[in-house]
Amino acid sequence: VLRPFTLHRPRTTDEACELLVRFGDDAVPYAGGTELLLLMKLGMARPRHLVDVKRIPGLGEITDAPGVGAAAPRLTLGATSTHRAVERSPRIQGRCPLVAATARHVANVRVRNVGTVGGNLAFADPHSDLATLFLTLDATIELVSARGRRVLPLADFVRGPWETARQPGELLTSVGLTPWPASTGAAYVKFGVYERPTLGVAVALQCAPGDPTGRVTAARVAIGCVNPRPVRVLAAETRLVGARLAELDDVLDAAAAAAVDGADPDDDLHGSADYKREMVAVFARRALRVAAARARGIVPPIRFPHAVVA
Ligand SMILES: Cc1cc2nc3c(=O)[nH]c(=O)nc-3n(C[C@H](O)[C@H](O)[C@H](O)COP(=O)(O)OP(=O)(O)OC[C@H]3O[C@@H](n4cnc5c(N)ncnc54)[C@H](O)[C@@H]3O)c2cc1C
Repeated sequence: VLRPFTLHRPRTTDEACELLVRFGDDAVPYAGGTELLLLMKLGMARPRHLVDVKRIPGLGEITDAPGVGAAAPRLTLGATSTHRAVERSPRIQGRCPLVAATARHVANVRVRNVGTVGGNLAFADPHSDLATLFLTLDATIELVSARGRRVLPLADFVRGPWETARQPGELLTSVGLTPWPASTGAAYVKFGVYERPTLGVAVALQCAPGDPTGRVTAARVAIGCVNPRPVRVLAAETRLVGARLAELDDVLDAAAAAAVDGADPDDDLHGSADYKREMVAVFARRALRVAAARARGIVPPIRFPHAVVA
């Protein structure tokens, strides 16, 4: 049963931030409500004021943002972009198809229709697909409050399970992503038998355009859901740089072992820590093989039990 609350519908972010300050601990931002209303029904959250951010014009826009220096433009996802909007956005499909493909596999269609990117990241559930994938896209989080605007890396924003660097009175307004160049093969693989993923592995292998040797010039590997927070595994990335795509199998075991070392799992209902470490090794190898095939223009056979490959 929901306890009584007042629903506020600000028209601007300034107004929303002012409401958050005015009502302090009694107020929370409210977007799709897929997490918040669940907590309220269970009595785990009892806010007396909900600040509905969905109707703030512009907060759900998906746009190009200027790149820094000679870098390509970045993609900006407004906080209230729904998973469905991300999946269907021609801009995201064109510039970052893996993000659109992953959005298609978040939760179920009811959650995707109303659940937002901002709500997903602000809630910091360790079983988030977006938080893992976005680490490989050098994501930044924009926060706005009466004190001004600040931007911080996603890796610094998510601090632990359900814990972020968001300060009281701050609103998450957008996420910035740096799309990979066209000469990149990437994959997001999630595994699990429950509603939310048990493991998420995001990888990207970048090569120099037109390089016939297919040598990896930059790599990204991120592991999520098994850790208190998603992590990029730099040691695994280092193993991959310089390898030839056609001979990636030579470094796969070393990269997968580094990914396991980077993971910090606990025993829980999703499985024991040892089981999760084993799954990290298995799925890091699988995700890298898929990404390498894609980088070479090959459509790989991708069917793994209880797993989704985006
Ligand atoms: C059945 C189910 C299955 C799911 N499966 C998956 C899955 O497979 N993969 C996955 O990644 N996720 C999954 N999720 C999580 C889902 O993605 C999130 O529930 C959704 O994106 C949250 O967005 P929301 O707009 O509904 O957030 P809300 O419920 O409105 O808010 C969530 C939290 O974020 C805060 N908040 C919301 N917007 C802002 C903002 N702009 N600034 C600051 N704080 C804000 C709220 O105060 C609240 O604390 C699942 C959820 C459910 C219910």
